[in-house]
This record gives sequence, C-alpha cells and structure tokens, in this order.
Amino acid sequence: MRRNIVAGNWKMNNDLSETQELIGDLKLQLVKEPTADVYVAPSFVNLYNSFQSLKGTPIKVAAQNMHYAENGAFTGEVSAKMLQSIGVQTVILGHSERRALFNETDELLAKKVDAALKSDMEVIFCFGEELKDRKSENHFNVVKEQLENGLFHIDKAAWKNVVLAYEPVWAIGTGETASPEQAQEMHEYVRGLVSDKFGSEIADNVSILYGGSVKPDNAREIFVKADVDGGLIGGASLKAIDFLTIVNSFE
Ligand code: PEP
Repeated sequence: MRRNIVAGNWKMNNDLSETQELIGDLKLQLVKEPTADVYVAPSFVNLYNSFQSLKGTPIKVAAQNMHYAENGAFTGEVSAKMLQSIGVQTVILGHSERRALFNETDELLAKKVDAALKSDMEVIFCFGEELKDRKSENHFNVVKEQLENGLFHIDKAAWKNVVLAYEPVWAIGTGETASPEQAQEMHEYVRGLVSDKFGSEIADNVSILYGGSVKPDNAREIFVKADVDGGLIGGASLKAIDFLTIVNSFE
C-alpha cells in the first residue's frame, strides 16, 4: 500500500550518547500518532541501541547500507542477516554519497537489492541526477538508467518491500531544494516507468520519497504534490523538533 513516509538519514553523525540524546528528544516530542511512517537511520554502531530505545514507539530503525554477501571475508562490512539479528528490517541503498564517495555502481547496487529482498528486508532505493545532468537536460535518462540497472530486474512480488527515494544530487546538503514542481515532474515520470514495466497497480502502490534539503518550512509544499509520498531527510533529521515538524507536514 502506498504510504506516507518520512525517513531521517543520520549519516556519519552522532556518537552513542548523542544518538541517545536525539532519540530521547524524539520520544519526548512525538506527542501524537504520526500521520506518516517514520524511520531513522543511525550509523551501524548505534543501530542496536537505537532499535532497543525505539521499541514500542512508531519510529522504525533503518540501516544506511549493507553488503550483498551473507557472511565471509569482507572486512568492515555488514550483512542483511546481521542487521536482522538486531531487529533492523529496512536498509537504505544507493544513496548518492555511497555512489559518489564509495564507488557504488548500479551493478553493485543490484546485488545489494537482491540480497536485501531475498532476506525479506525493506529497501529504500535512492537515485537522482547530478547538476550537470540537469543542466544538460539529461536528468530523466540518468534516473531511468539508475532504476533500470539497479532495481528493475526484481520480481513483481518484491515491490511490496521497496520504497523509492528521488534525491537530486545537487539538492543534497546544499540548501538548494528542487521546486515542488520539479519534484512532482520527476516522481510522476518515475511512477510511469514503474507502471510501464510492472503495471499500474504496483506503480500506484509504491511510495516515492523526495530528498534534498527538505526543511520544516518547505516540506509541506513538496509533500502535497500528487506523486510525492514523503521525504528522505538528511540535515534536518538531526534535530528532533525539525524532523518532527517535517513528519507532521502531511496534516
Ligand atoms: C540525504 O542525504 O538523503 C539528504 C536528503 O540530505 P539533506 O536533507 O541534508 O539534503
């Protein structure tokens, strides 16, 4: 079912006590049942503690990455099985920082997607064009290629565990947001791609999040767009009041 979702990507921020403090603030300030599904993605070392602390609240915990192998000689990596063993059922894959700074290719991401879905994990699959692509009006092609090469090989049945996140690279952490119209235009295009390949039922049911400098003061105008089902939030997710204001932007 198509859901409203707001997910906070905490990236490589917050040590254990800072993570606990932020979670404490979220619990304190989340006074009513949110009208969206809420996720936070702490760093690997803080996942277990975060999951335990958030038990019994509506806030779910996601990982920021994972390896495609079940186990083995992959120093420094974490598998789906490890994540699930501590209660984490959702993973963000394909974030532009993973693609750009850690050379994650579409081919690698396809393997990670397969591993996560095979383990029955939920995948928040990120994609988005760079500024040069938008300037050369190649953004639709870039997004299509990322989706076709990294995700569109999956079975129809696996879509129940997929959330899409359109994150134009030029808007991430830059303070520059795509306009609500630009977001809607791309989301509609992406839903069309899903529909063409997998049918309208799957396309209508998949949640497509927008990410890129979403803040408390611009979330509502973006989320109100027909094909925008919420947001993946970086910077503004590090302050409970800002994040929860975004969460409450659906009302
Ligand atoms: C992100 O990193 O996914 C993101 C959207 O960051 P920010 O909100 O800071 O632009």
